[in-house]
Amino acid sequence: MGEFELIRRHFVRGQGGPGVALGIGDDCALLRTTPGHQLAVSSDMLVEGRHFFPDVDPEALGHKSLAVNLSDLAAMGARPLGFTLALALPGADDAWLRGFASGLHALADAHGCPLVGGDTTRGPLNICITVFGEVVAGQALRRDAARAGDDLWLSGRTGEARLALERLRGTAWALADRSDDTLCRQRLERPTPRLALGTALAGLAHAAIDLSDGLAGDLGHILAASGVGAEIEQAALPVAPALQALPEAHRLECLLHGGDDYELLFTAPTDAREAVARAAQASGTPVQRIGRTTPDARLRLLGPDGRTQALHARGFDHFAPGSAPVS
Ligand code: ADP
Ligand code: MG
Repeated sequence: MGEFELIRRHFVRGQGGPGVALGIGDDCALLRTTPGHQLAVSSDMLVEGRHFFPDVDPEALGHKSLAVNLSDLAAMGARPLGFTLALALPGADDAWLRGFASGLHALADAHGCPLVGGDTTRGPLNICITVFGEVVAGQALRRDAARAGDDLWLSGRTGEARLALERLRGTAWALADRSDDTLCRQRLERPTPRLALGTALAGLAHAAIDLSDGLAGDLGHILAASGVGAEIEQAALPVAPALQALPEAHRLECLLHGGDDYELLFTAPTDAREAVARAAQASGTPVQRIGRTTPDARLRLLGPDGRTQALHARGFDHFAPGSAPVS
């Protein structure tokens, strides 16, 4: 199977949705944007051994590759238009490609975000997706838009993906009790991009970010960009059943520094509480107020005993000494 046959067989599926004037096959795709909107663009790369295990289910990998990109659109409050796929493959494994493409296209169809182009080359397995979306001009949820005194909100809950990763790594504390194993694996391998919530929050919330590197670390990006601090209330953090039996230190590690959650963390003015609750309900996404932003630039955790402690915003850094890949 040659390069063009591979693309035709697995990736070409008609000309796409309303946002696509010209899809796969020419030198460029042509996207249609709605007047009065801005184009939102983001790329995410997934590398074997760094972002996923070599034996991961290809269907789940196709899903996750697009999901992490759609999650970036959600975090800007943008609606998807389409995406491109740059793929390096060690060989043309038809069964693998069929699984990968089916996971990819199923999520693309669910969000009306068609594949409009890409590049295919031989090399170590590497998946790079670029998503294109649109958001009403001036309504994007930027990281630098938080104001002191905002409520801090979280969609869904954090920590299960990290617990699943530690179980796959064979970490002892994660293996003591394997309740909700399937659910945790789903959270790690098939994250749900919170697009409906993100678009409902555009023009309503102040700042937002999607959680890829852990709640505290990603919150740190909002705080640094906005020049504010925050206090997280430990008792307000939703705790998944699978995390309940963990010793407190490990539970907090998963909740605050877990990574791979792909939930939305956002700030909104206190007088928008009802509007945020309506946006959450309309989008079918649970949200929870987990703290507030503060005028001083510190990040603190308010414990259940009423005492506060400094929280370190150590997100995942691929170039930090000793940063561990998945395997
Ligand atoms: P070019 O030589 O102009 O870079 P290519 O020969 O690489 O074009 O690709 C031919 C067409 O197939 C282009 O429209 C390109 O966007 C598309 N394409 C290539 N690889 C992929 C892929 N993995 N997924 C979707 N479309 C692809
Ligand atoms: Mg090319």
